[in-house]
Amino acid sequence: MSYRWETPASVWLEDEKSARFELASSEGLGQVDWQAHARGRVPDCAELLGASLPLTCDCSPIFPEGFAFCPNCGRALKKPAADASQRPDWWGPSGDQFLPRHVPHGLPVTMLPLGASLEQRLAAPAVGRYDLTMPVPPNAHCVFAAATYGFPVQRLLALATTRSVLQYWDPAAQLWHVMVAEEGAAPLAFTASEHAWLPALNPLRGEVALVPTASGLHRLWINPVSETYRTEAVFEAPLASSPGAIRRHISCLFEVDGETRLWSALADGADVDVMHCPGAPGAGWSRPIAYDDRLTWLHEHGQLSWRPGAQPQWLAWPQGWTPRLEFGGPTQSRDGRLWLIGHGVDGYSFLELGTPAPQAEPISGARLGFASLLFRRGHAVVGEPWGPEHVEDPHDDDTLVLPLLRSFNNNRSQPSGLVLRFHKYTGRAEDALSSRTIARTTVEWIGRRNVILDDIARLARPLECVPFVYDACLWLHHPDWNQIRGWRLEALS
Ligand SMILES: [Zn+2]
Repeated sequence: MSYRWETPASVWLEDEKSARFELASSEGLGQVDWQAHARGRVPDCAELLGASLPLTCDCSPIFPEGFAFCPNCGRALKKPAADASQRPDWWGPSGDQFLPRHVPHGLPVTMLPLGASLEQRLAAPAVGRYDLTMPVPPNAHCVFAAATYGFPVQRLLALATTRSVLQYWDPAAQLWHVMVAEEGAAPLAFTASEHAWLPALNPLRGEVALVPTASGLHRLWINPVSETYRTEAVFEAPLASSPGAIRRHISCLFEVDGETRLWSALADGADVDVMHCPGAPGAGWSRPIAYDDRLTWLHEHGQLSWRPGAQPQWLAWPQGWTPRLEFGGPTQSRDGRLWLIGHGVDGYSFLELGTPAPQAEPISGARLGFASLLFRRGHAVVGEPWGPEHVEDPHDDDTLVLPLLRSFNNNRSQPSGLVLRFHKYTGRAEDALSSRTIARTTVEWIGRRNVILDDIARLARPLECVPFVYDACLWLHHPDWNQIRGWRLEALS
């Protein structure tokens, strides 16, 4: 026999004999499989639910939300800390939803004040080290999100997008848990194009994001108590691209009868529209970029852009010109136009995006970066993307800088951000990004002061480095490493 206790969000059962509580149901969680005690999950579940924990008695491992005293022995209980998570969300380096309109959305640019903390460290040439580490998730090729998903505390998720594995970080136990798909959940794998998800901005409990899958666009929900997830179909079709958002619209590309089409709807799912995209490929798209009231998907063979209310426009690249998408992404000229680097018969050039008659600006060598965080070898390019580089230290000639994340700050004219610097590397940029193992790489913060955050021996496939921000730390993950490196951010704690 059990007594039933109801709180505003949950139903708890108290065992008549043992006086121990277990969760029967809770808002938004669906079916609850309460084995938290057996799995060592009690401290984590208590924070997620806002439930009370024993302080001095051991009558029950957990008590319902709001309980101040143990109903069995009358001793005081520990209520969850009142600091409902004020931590900023993280939806991937390219997932900042709060950038101003004049900054392209969908590129690795963040509004978080990372420089305020990182620039307190010893400036270069001092070589720093990470402050702490976190285990790598079991499926290491993944994207990270840190958000509350409607719970009172922030939690970290790692989605392995090619293998359909959703992993949950339990901060109390310091363990990754693989979440189990509930019956009927769509597989979360998406390999047709680059992965991007659209976060729920005012999430209900457990609501994560709109995710692209092989079978369509799905709303993803998690139940971190039972360690399960479920999905809800928003649009069912073989998707060709990840979704993007522009003004009040969401949109993605899909394939039907061997033809690519564009699907769009309002954010609440109303006003669905489907449009033809003649000539556009059915896979291999970059995540969309939202800028100038348009969504743009980039491809090895061309670009597709769409403005709500108009027809989508597919433009193949000029004859003989191929983009270098791996160099970073579009960058802006002083007048606000977007440009993409590529290679044609006369060498490298920047090509204007979004117009059938693009202007081209030749350059003498590769430039790595995106969104005005741009480098020619070891030197920043601070004017026009095709302008001369700014040589601060001629020794940087034999280094190559790969930008990872730009930090957007309205009060600064010089771009700042997180970069990798490959030392004593004078080979082709293409090789450094693909097959080469680089003997020495430093992780650096470029800002008012340049700070060397870490030193890495033998780095291969640098484009697989994933920065993320969680728990007032900047983290850097690479699938080859056995630990994720972290640097504390005082400005976020
Ligand atoms: Zn007690």
